[in-house]
Amino acid sequence: MANNQTVDGLDTHFFNDVCKNFDHAARFTHHDAGLLDQIKSCNSVYRFRFPIRKGNGFEVIDAWRVEHSHHQSPTKGGIRYSEMVNEDEVMALAALMTYKCAIVNVPFGGAKGGIKINPKRYTEQELENITRRYTVELTKKNFLGPSIDVPAPDYGSGEREMSWIADTYATMNPGQLDALGCVTGKPIALHGIAGRREATGRGVAIAAREAVSVGEDMQKIGLTAGLSGKRVIVQGLGNVGYYSAKFLAEFGATIVGIAEYEGAIYNADGLDVEAVFQHRKETGSILGYAGAKQEFKSSGEGLEQECDILVPAALENQITVNNIRNIKAKIIVEGANGPTTPEAETIFYQNGGIIVPDMYANAGGVTVSYFEWLKNLSHVAFGRMNRRFEENSNLNLVNMVEGLTGVALTPVQRASIVKGASELELVNSGLEDTMIRSYHEIREVFKATDKVDTLRTAAFVGAINKIAVSYKNLGVWP
Ligand code: GLU
Repeated sequence: MANNQTVDGLDTHFFNDVCKNFDHAARFTHHDAGLLDQIKSCNSVYRFRFPIRKGNGFEVIDAWRVEHSHHQSPTKGGIRYSEMVNEDEVMALAALMTYKCAIVNVPFGGAKGGIKINPKRYTEQELENITRRYTVELTKKNFLGPSIDVPAPDYGSGEREMSWIADTYATMNPGQLDALGCVTGKPIALHGIAGRREATGRGVAIAAREAVSVGEDMQKIGLTAGLSGKRVIVQGLGNVGYYSAKFLAEFGATIVGIAEYEGAIYNADGLDVEAVFQHRKETGSILGYAGAKQEFKSSGEGLEQECDILVPAALENQITVNNIRNIKAKIIVEGANGPTTPEAETIFYQNGGIIVPDMYANAGGVTVSYFEWLKNLSHVAFGRMNRRFEENSNLNLVNMVEGLTGVALTPVQRASIVKGASELELVNSGLEDTMIRSYHEIREVFKATDKVDTLRTAAFVGAINKIAVSYKNLGVWP
């Protein structure tokens, strides 16, 4: 099958890049060519247009939902609100969702949505109209539902948009018990889950921590093991970039640079992420932040400064043959989807670097979305049934040990031992476990498969093998 499935005169490089990576990895598997084609193809591409009222007139909105793979149900993936959205991009991102879910053992197929608008040009009322109409269109065509296809936030969308989707879908499906499981990333008050907002960034930080914790791998690229003191540049201060930077700093790294589309700032002694975030909120720009020692007018220049780890957490296609040779980092941890082109990746590895690939590094979001969906289907918050029971058991145990040993714990020690897990603690623990296990799964494939050149290829090999098993279990392939 040819890779360029998209016609329409569109620039098809992003989906092609994903397919190129897939084809490269497929050579390290032993599956039937037809099965590989089935895994790689975008199963359903729904392109639609609808009108909305704007000012005194109407405007026609372009929108998409792509379900890349139905080897598992439902399909899952965010909805991007951006003027740059096109069919090729939505297809590529849907495909990445399929591999991402397989890598972190989340039982979903991949999907992605896109609405071609610049959200800043619309009032809240108009955005609500657009989102509700988008939801109606998907529902009409059976492209939405807790067992069909479950969207989530992506670039340009958040909790507010997800609550409009949930409400519209629930209204159109009266009596459907699991209706609110039709979308994730909802506000907590509307059956969202604690920790979802931070999940992608937290996952990126755990991914980076795990990668640098392996002494043997770090030695090969001339770095010491451990995050402590590692200099990090983050591109993007949106949801993913902000939380990645925040948790990386919490885990001991030093955030030396932050780049946004208006420019970049740098301080070798470290930047206070929260203060930069507040500065941008107040002034509309990271530039002019008093704690920066250097400022760059172009975002790209910010990526080329001295650091150990670079976290591109903005958009795709940021690290290309044009700038890869100027990147000083030894490790790239991909917070965004598709930030590095395949050609740039080859050069980076040849120069002795490693890339922790997007499909793994930013899978924290969909992992916690999975937890939210489980919560919605079970209609009970995590920890609700067992928290007090655990506390009582722990209390009995502490009392008994104190009685037997005659040693009294301090109130702080007692509280920390007795305490039952909250929903947030359970979510964070499930996320951490997923990210750590998945990293080592990928690393094992990387080490065990002769000639596998990158962690991305290893991640693809693992994902392809898991998806192939699903198809075989479905009885589609012998
Ligand atoms: N948009 C996010 C991603 O690209 C989240 C997807 C989800 O939670 O379904 O992974």
